[in-house]
Amino acid sequence: MDCAGRLPAVAARPTRNADLVARDLAVLWHPCTQMKDHEALPPIPIRRGEGVWLEDFDGNRYLDAVSSWWVNLFGHANPRINAALKAQLDELEHVILAGFTHAPALELAERLVALTPPGLERCFFSDNGSTAVEIALKMSFHYWRNAGEPGRTRFVNLTNSYHGETLGALAAGDVSLYKTTYEPLLMGVLTVPSPDCWHRAAGESCAEHSRRMLEPMRETLERHAGEVCAVIVEPLVQCAGSMRMYDPIYLRLLRELCDRHRVHLIADEVAVGFGRTGTLFACEQAGISPDFLCLSKGLTGGYLPLAATLTTERVYQAFYDDYATLRAFLHSHSYTGNALGCRAALASLDIFEQDDVCAHNRELSREMAQAVAPLAEHPHVGEVRQHGMILAVELVRDRKTREPYAWQERRGLRVYRHALGRGVLLRPLGDVVYFMPPYVITPEQIHRLAQVAREGIELATADSGAP
Ligand SMILES: *Cc1c(COP(=O)(O)O)cnc(C)c1O
Repeated sequence: MDCAGRLPAVAARPTRNADLVARDLAVLWHPCTQMKDHEALPPIPIRRGEGVWLEDFDGNRYLDAVSSWWVNLFGHANPRINAALKAQLDELEHVILAGFTHAPALELAERLVALTPPGLERCFFSDNGSTAVEIALKMSFHYWRNAGEPGRTRFVNLTNSYHGETLGALAAGDVSLYKTTYEPLLMGVLTVPSPDCWHRAAGESCAEHSRRMLEPMRETLERHAGEVCAVIVEPLVQCAGSMRMYDPIYLRLLRELCDRHRVHLIADEVAVGFGRTGTLFACEQAGISPDFLCLSKGLTGGYLPLAATLTTERVYQAFYDDYATLRAFLHSHSYTGNALGCRAALASLDIFEQDDVCAHNRELSREMAQAVAPLAEHPHVGEVRQHGMILAVELVRDRKTREPYAWQERRGLRVYRHALGRGVLLRPLGDVVYFMPPYVITPEQIHRLAQVAREGIELATADSGAP
């Protein structure tokens, strides 16, 4: 390398997947990956995206059934979002948001306040889902200090919940695969059983189960009265926790319970927000307003890292005072309210408005349900579940007892490999195969997706796996 940082010239021949893979594996460390796995299954270099399709350097195409980790809403290289971003780029890319402001940030804040459940009046920007959660946790904790109740220092979460990977967000979650190693670094939280309907008793409806599971929450809040800042939940779907789902009744009753105990409710809609569950926000299905709402992932339509934590005027006012009282929320991230990110988000919200996306998605959801219906009877499928545009198929060794496969068998990985060979990007969570596609998917593509998933599941469950 010379002192300008130039690398030696690369031979001028058409780039192939293999060229990029070799260079990648020499320098990159990929997220959420045991890098040794790439010895057998190299990463796939993507050259371009269009709509639901991703194309690699060898010319193979993949239908992006997981919206590139749940972020993409309206397809890759969406012409409308592209145009908005190109225009923004020529005006302003970014400016410090402390002491300054700009139209995209304030317009986005106005629209989020208008679109989110009533009572959420203030919008604090950051860059990703984990920071959106960190901010909600810190604001809630700090609110209680400012409000003269410094004894409230604890948070309550649900089993199998996920709120991100930074230390505070990781502490607030409960997926042991990501959390256990770091436990000595994490604040302790009060963990209460999730209303997840997978665990419902025989003959019990999902709603009955979710309602019954409020009891342990009630006990915990009673036992720790005056100690709790907030309860944090993922409304309706615990996405990273294997797409486990519960009934909206839980959220409605939880809201009442939080009010009774004067505890904040933090709704982490980082994954389920922006139409995934069938309504713009999942909280709408329970008719509730949280005290904090965390948004990211789909916020920019999958274009740029941006997040928002919305809260109430009441919380805001508890920080609003003369500087010398030292009550201000002195939290910041360098890229807070990035103008390009906000512009992408505005363009994405325009599409929601112009295209009646939620109505269209209801048709797509029905199509998804129909396409996988045959799988419900499969001997190694424990459950097919769905909330709007999220559909999950849980593989089990024994359908009757719901005994899982040993995780070491990595059945889901077999589905992943099969699907890639058939031009579909399905990335199961353990043994849970799911679809969370961009909203521009067509009914034909949904059926193709379901066909490939069925083949993959057939292959992945063909042997007993017994030693
Ligand atoms: C993905 C996710 C996060 C973390 O978002 P990042 O942008 O990956 O930090 C937090 N909460 C939920 C519910 C998520 O699904």
